[in-house]
Amino acid sequence: MWQALTGCIAVGARLRSRGMQIDPQCMRCGMAPETVNHTLFECPPALQVWALSPIPTAPAHFPTAGLFTNMTHLFWHLPTNDDRMRMYPWLIWYIWKARNDKVIANVDWDPNEIIVKATAEATAWATAQEKSETRYPSSSSPEETTIVEDVCQVDGAWKDTEHRAGLRWYFCNLEFGDKIMGTCNLRRGISPFQTELEALLWAMQCMLRLNKLLMVFQTDCSDVVKMVSKLEEWPAFSTLLDEVDRCKRKFISFSIMQIPRKENTKADKLARSARALPTDVYYVNSVSSAWIPELL
Ligand SMILES: [Zn+2]
Repeated sequence: MWQALTGCIAVGARLRSRGMQIDPQCMRCGMAPETVNHTLFECPPALQVWALSPIPTAPAHFPTAGLFTNMTHLFWHLPTNDDRMRMYPWLIWYIWKARNDKVIANVDWDPNEIIVKATAEATAWATAQEKSETRYPSSSSPEETTIVEDVCQVDGAWKDTEHRAGLRWYFCNLEFGDKIMGTCNLRRGISPFQTELEALLWAMQCMLRLNKLLMVFQTDCSDVVKMVSKLEEWPAFSTLLDEVDRCKRKFISFSIMQIPRKENTKADKLARSARALPTDVYYVNSVSSAWIPELL
């Protein structure tokens, strides 16, 4: 979904706009340029899947010609009391897979098959969440905590009314008391969730650059802990998670745990102050910068 929203899907119209000499028309229906929105929502085979799925559809409401309108509908306007609604990321995923199978191998998927697969994946995912909730946060064992003294708290600040999201990490060595912090802002992503994940990824990259290879990361976002522990279960975030996974392998010891929001205040304040700034900010230092006076 993140890829869809940022236009990182290799549909005809996107490739054409990047200068590739290909026909931007949809190869399945030939009725419109193959945009991300057309492929996932408006192409007749996709429309059929949405119509047959439990996700509520209504003319001029969903699906529409606007990618962001469609995603907003899925993110925030679905009934919250119906478990079947959580299947939408897998519907998107299988609609995309079906498109590829058609374009690459001329294989047709039955729309009902897509719904059955998406339902199964969503159920499997929900079951896995129940199990991992009892297991996390506890990824750092007592033995590990006695060895690893380097802790890095991460946080992301996201607000739908602001154009920028703030990322922040706060590194501390428990034995020597060394402190380093980093904060930056970037164009706001689609959800607070993505920002939390981006904050973690940036913190991991910075720690690797600082040669801190025995790390405990702390976040107040329980979903980030789950995502990092079960990367394969979050196909919608696969691009970011692949990167997290690559970085993770470079650490000698890596663990991530959830801490209560009230214990993550330094990270939170830094992230919020970065989010509020109108321009690009990128700051890594051992002391706080002047625009975050409360941390000095
Ligand atoms: Zn089409």
